[in-house]
This record gives sequence, structure tokens and C-alpha cells, in this order.
Amino acid sequence: MRNQLVNINTVNDIFVEYRHTPIALLLEFHNLNRPFASYTQAQLLVGMCMDNRKHLHIPDNFSYIIRSGGANLRYSEFKVSYAISVGGIQYIALIGHNNCGMVNLHARKELFINGLIKNAGWERERAEEHFTSFAPMFEIDNEIDFVVSEAKRLRVKYPNVTIAPLFYNVEDNRLSMIQE
Ligand SMILES: [Zn+2]
Repeated sequence: MRNQLVNINTVNDIFVEYRHTPIALLLEFHNLNRPFASYTQAQLLVGMCMDNRKHLHIPDNFSYIIRSGGANLRYSEFKVSYAISVGGIQYIALIGHNNCGMVNLHARKELFINGLIKNAGWERERAEEHFTSFAPMFEIDNEIDFVVSEAKRLRVKYPNVTIAPLFYNVEDNRLSMIQE
């Protein structure tokens, strides 16, 4: 079955298993204008793409945030472990978004190589090799399916942590839940 986006327009739209958790608070702060509380400790870890079109509407100190292309946390696991162990985090929100640059990365190969030559001063050969060795680690097929698979992978790795895949629409800046 396909993963489906679910709009969050009222608190009743939030999936029952995430109610009264920091995942629900994130959705309420960002989508539903819940008044900000003050926090002295992080309640949540957010994993989201580095893309510049996204900004979360959340209170100060509410969340750790790891930003990485496509919300891919495979190469940030020490930081995830740190947030859980030292930061005491029990909840992770993984936020994918539409029009993600990590989808169909291969189509941007020439742009990437020429950009490194022009903007960074690299030689063509080095730029090509860099793309060829790293693109397969970061390319994703579909933004929604990717965060769901990443959530499943992290649930196995951190079984006591609740992990929710979410989706950010860069056109209206709203978060949706993903029905897995
Ligand atoms: Zn992205």
C-alpha cells in the first residue's frame, strides 16, 4: 500500500498514537498556532532536509534539529545517538518535503560538476569523482517513501524511541502526517 499524506488542520487529525507527545506538539505549534510554551530542555529531535525553503514555527529550546539532504540521517547517527543518550530525547520527527533536490540527483550531475568547477575552483576530474562517489549515498527516489523507510530503519536501531515520518509542503509551509 502507498504511503498517504494526511492534512493536519485540527488536533483531531493527529494520529492517535502520537497524541500527547512532542510529535503532536510540533504539529500544533507549526500548523495550528498553539501558543508557545517555554522550554528549558529539548523535547524532540527533528531530522529535516537542508533545503532553504523550510522554517519550523516552534518555541526556543523545543527541539534538536539535524539538517541533511533529504532528511537522510544515515550519516548523522552519532548525533542522533547523542540527542537520545545525553539529550534524553524519546521522540524523533523525520520531515521530508516536496521538490527535494535529492530526488533524481543524477539529472543534476552536470550542474553539480560545473558548479564545483566555477564556484569552488575544482578541477573537472575531481568534481566528477566527487559526484560519482557520493551521489548514490544521498540520492532518493521519492521524498515520502524515503522518510518512511528512514523511520522504519531508525525504529529498529532505537526501539524505545517513537519516530514519526512527516512531510513539509514548500508551497504552503504546512506539515502533514504520513499514513504508512
Ligand atoms: Zn530536500
